[in-house]
Amino acid sequence: QLVWEANILSYVDYVYEKTKVHGNSSALRVPPNLPKQVPLLGPTFVPPSYRHVMKRSTVPKIVPETAYIVALTVVHPFYHSGTISICPQCGDSKNVNWDSWTGTGGREVQGLYRNERVIGYQLRCKTCQGKPKEERKQGFCFATTNQIFWEKWEHWKIPRSIPIFNKRLAVTRNLYDLIIELRPTSTAAGLAEHIRRNTHPGQLRYNQLHEFSAPDDPSCYNDAPITNDIITDIYLDFTKRFREPESVAYCKTRTAQSLSLDNTFKSASKAVVVDSDGKRTRLFTGGILSVINEVSETMGWVSDSKLNTILSNHMKALLSNSVAC
Ligand SMILES: [Zn+2]
Repeated sequence: QLVWEANILSYVDYVYEKTKVHGNSSALRVPPNLPKQVPLLGPTFVPPSYRHVMKRSTVPKIVPETAYIVALTVVHPFYHSGTISICPQCGDSKNVNWDSWTGTGGREVQGLYRNERVIGYQLRCKTCQGKPKEERKQGFCFATTNQIFWEKWEHWKIPRSIPIFNKRLAVTRNLYDLIIELRPTSTAAGLAEHIRRNTHPGQLRYNQLHEFSAPDDPSCYNDAPITNDIITDIYLDFTKRFREPESVAYCKTRTAQSLSLDNTFKSASKAVVVDSDGKRTRLFTGGILSVINEVSETMGWVSDSKLNTILSNHMKALLSNSVAC
């Protein structure tokens, strides 16, 4: 795997070197073209398959170890220079430099059919570097495979080939889309179960003459599918970062002549979650409140343990809105 990754990095270094504009040259300078004899590959590099071995040799030597190598995605300015050269802290896109590969190497990416790996490049922001320490809490050097780099990006704005980075791990875009679409109508455990079934058996029949490793053997095939708590994590992060602000913005556009408060306000506080140790937790100690107008459109919603305080603020906000309208 490491030899495979090292070869990819030398390739990307080579094509980047051939096509980049020197940092000191004028802004009007057109970047040089890639010579025709150099193939343009990436940003996701998929390892050669059994077919490759078969086509290249009359007596192909088939060993399962080649199937243990996983795909590598490169998040590098060569592929996305115009779009991702922005400092994630101050938003500056002029005073930034692409520095070097991330020192810690590649990162695991959870995939739908097979896990992958990703490796990033580092962006150095000169504006942040010049600021006092307390103003640049996140430093001034950002790796493209760190979730801090993508924190301010809407998920649909991130180029499709780049995985979605979370605090705990990264997931491929296909798996991320699947989670955010299907999680509302299914449980995290149910979804994880389906992904698990899809993942392995077909690939394990790949070579029946030679024993294949266990699917999750870290020194061989090493492909543990996503677990339900990670699905929950990703979905919560998605709702917090994108759905909540969208919902709030939408609610502000609604008007009403009469308001109706929902009854789940009282009954939600009765819901109790019991974990495997028998510990009981009340998630909605204050309950949920939703307010609808005369055509059953949601005007606003609150779900919090300090509901009473928020409720009075919420009602004030609703009334002041209606006066303004
Ligand atoms: Zn900056």
